[in-house]
Amino acid sequence: MIKAQISEIKTLLGTPQDIVIVPHKNPDGDAVGSTLALYHYLKAYSHRATVVAPNDYPDFLKWLPGNDEVLIFESQQEACEALIHKAQLIFTLDFNALHRTGDMATSLEQSSATKIMIDHHQQPDTYAKYTYSDVSMSSTCEMVYNFIELLGDLDNINSEIATCLYTGIMTDTGSFRFPSTTSRTHHVVGDLMERGAKNSEIHNQVYDTNSYSRLQLLGRALQNLKVIPELCTAYITLSQAELDEFNFKKGDTEGFVNYGLSLKDIIFAAIFIENEQEGIVKVSLRSKGTFSVNAFSRAHFNGGGHTNAAGGRSEENLQITVEKFISILPQYKNELSQ
Ligand code: 5GP
Ligand code: MN
Repeated sequence: MIKAQISEIKTLLGTPQDIVIVPHKNPDGDAVGSTLALYHYLKAYSHRATVVAPNDYPDFLKWLPGNDEVLIFESQQEACEALIHKAQLIFTLDFNALHRTGDMATSLEQSSATKIMIDHHQQPDTYAKYTYSDVSMSSTCEMVYNFIELLGDLDNINSEIATCLYTGIMTDTGSFRFPSTTSRTHHVVGDLMERGAKNSEIHNQVYDTNSYSRLQLLGRALQNLKVIPELCTAYITLSQAELDEFNFKKGDTEGFVNYGLSLKDIIFAAIFIENEQEGIVKVSLRSKGTFSVNAFSRAHFNGGGHTNAAGGRSEENLQITVEKFISILPQYKNELSQ
């Protein structure tokens, strides 16, 4: 983001505005953390800011400060549409294309508000007047920290903002271990701790609040894990019947895909999760090294994301989806046999 744009945004924020802050559909820790952090930051300047999420998110994020003020488009559509209609400014965080907000996209497209995108996904669309896009960033939360720094306002990061930003950086970096984690990321996280983020408490809230049934579901997922050693690939399937058997709740399968990638010599991992209600199979893809799951997902599963983490979907049933996946893999033989 160039200096001239920052100074324009500073001017825009010089008087209290009607502001809507939007994360992507099925918001994760980075999406909820970044939108709530920005919410707290803007509130301190008396802006009339609201986080409007396309749909609900998992319980392990519901302790975040400001959670109770979040509006959910799916269940409070009229109120959300009114806010979007009235908004002078709309921040879109942690996504690169309006369709990533699902049914909310139409309202956002129709809105005449000035849009500001802050995001680290590849190939961003150009809907925003101000686009702060950087695919090298660990997380949108790290970018919100940078944004506040560009505004010359780090000293106004209070413990609520710090807690939200720490959470998103932690979840998007797999607790600071993915290659997108830089020394700068650690520097930012250190600063957030000094400003009131309690690292151990945050970790407990996000990762140590498992239900018994979620761990049992993980057990089933691991039993279903299949390996294709010659293509350094591992994949997991979960059918709707299995999800039902273990009393699936939103967020329960978060992180399961990473177990495939923890196998020795595996560089490509996938999980296929049946969603009967939406009539789709949700696909999550992870890789190590240069194999781009973003490109793979764009080419075959109507999705995208980052080089090493992407998502997508299939409208075929679970079995056909997995067969399709297996049949495509040999095309990538050179990249996958290392
Ligand atoms: P996950 O597999 O955890 O759902 O998503 C991994 C990454 O890919 C996240 O950064 C997420 O935002 C992105 N992603 C997930 N699903 C989609 C999708 O359908 N389209 C695009 N463009 N990105 C996705
Ligand atoms: Mn993110």
